[in-house]
Amino acid sequence: MADVKLNDEEGRVAALHRYHILDTREEEAFENITQLVQSILRVPISAVSLVDRDRQWFKSRQGIDARETSRDVAFCNYTIRQREPMIVSNANEDARFQNNPLVTGMPHIASYAGVPLETPDGYQIGSLCAIDTVPREFDAQQIDILRKLGKLVVEQMELRQIAERDHLTGALTRRAFLTEMDKEITRFQRYERPATLLMLDVDHFKAINDGYGHPAGDRVLTTVSKYFLGTVRTTDCFGRLGGEEFGVLLPDTDGEAAIAAANRFREELALLEIGDDPIIRVTASFGIAPLSTDVGICEQWLAEADIALYRAKRSGRNRCCLAEMKSAKRSQLA
Ligand code: GH3
Ligand code: MG
Ligand code: MG
Repeated sequence: MADVKLNDEEGRVAALHRYHILDTREEEAFENITQLVQSILRVPISAVSLVDRDRQWFKSRQGIDARETSRDVAFCNYTIRQREPMIVSNANEDARFQNNPLVTGMPHIASYAGVPLETPDGYQIGSLCAIDTVPREFDAQQIDILRKLGKLVVEQMELRQIAERDHLTGALTRRAFLTEMDKEITRFQRYERPATLLMLDVDHFKAINDGYGHPAGDRVLTTVSKYFLGTVRTTDCFGRLGGEEFGVLLPDTDGEAAIAAANRFREELALLEIGDDPIIRVTASFGIAPLSTDVGICEQWLAEADIALYRAKRSGRNRCCLAEMKSAKRSQLA
C-alpha cells in the first residue's frame, strides 16, 4: 500500500505546527537527548531538526551555531522522506551531498546518521541526527539507540503539548500561561522591562451555546483562538484562562501600545465569520493591565485585568478598559 502520509506535505507541516514548538527556547529534556547522542555515538554534532515548510529549525543542537538553515541544504530533508534511518558514511562520495555547502564548508559534514521523528498520526516532522566531520560507519547498535532516542524526542514533544496546550483551542493552558506571566514579572522586577496583560471574554457567549448548540460554541472558541495564534508575535503568549475567557501577554509593551493592540484585536475579532450556515459573529470585551510595581504575584496581575474587563462588560461590552493603577488611585484620592 502506498505510504500516503509520506507524501502529504501540507498535512506534515500542519502536524509540525500543531506542536507550537518552532522558535521556542532551548529546553533541558531535548538538550539531554542530543548530548546523549554525542557521547554514546561519539560524534561532535547532534541535533533535533524540525523540517518546516522552507527551513530546518533546530529545537536542540550540539556542535552547531546556527539555529536554522534553509531546507534545500538539510540532510534531514532526505531523512523525513523515508521510514528507515538514513545513513551517509561518506558525504563527499555521495552524489546527493558532495556539493552541499554544509559538506564543502562549515560545519564540514562528512558522515551522518538520522532517524525520522514520526508523530503518533504518522507524519515525519523532522529528525534526530548524529553528524561527524570525518567519514565513518555507524553500527546496528548505535542506530538502534538513535532510533529509541528519536522516539523519546517525540514523546517529549507530546508531553510538552499535553501540559502546555489546551486540547480544544491549541491556546496555552491556564497553568502554562501563568508560568509565562511569572517570568514577565521577574523580568520587570530585575530589568524594569514593561509588559502588559490583556484579558478578554467573549460577549454573550451563553446565547451562542443556547441558540446554536454547544458544538457551534466550540467552533467559536477554536476560531477566536486560531485568529490570536496567527496574529500575535512569536514573543507574545496566548492562553485560555477558562471557558470563553482568554489572556494575551505582550512583553516589552507599555499601556499605550497595548491599548492600540487590544483595539485592533477587538475590531478584527468582530469581523470574523464563523461557520457558514448560519454565519456567526462575535465580539469580546478586554481588560488591559500594564505591569506595575503594585504587582508582586501573577494573581494580582490577573485581578487587575479582571477588574478592568468587568468595567468593559458593565459599560456596554465590545470595548477595552485600562486597569487603574493603585498608585494612580491614591493620587486621585489625594
Ligand atoms: P458576558 O457577555 O457577560 O461574558 O456573557 P456570557 O454569556 O459570555 O457569559 P457567561 O459566563 O454567562 O457564559 C459563559 C458560557 O460559556 C457558559 C458556559 O457553559 C460556556 N462554556 C464554557 N466553556 C465552554 C466550552 O468549552 N465550550 C462551549 N461551547 N461553551 C463553554
Ligand atoms: Mg462571556
Ligand atoms: Mg466568562
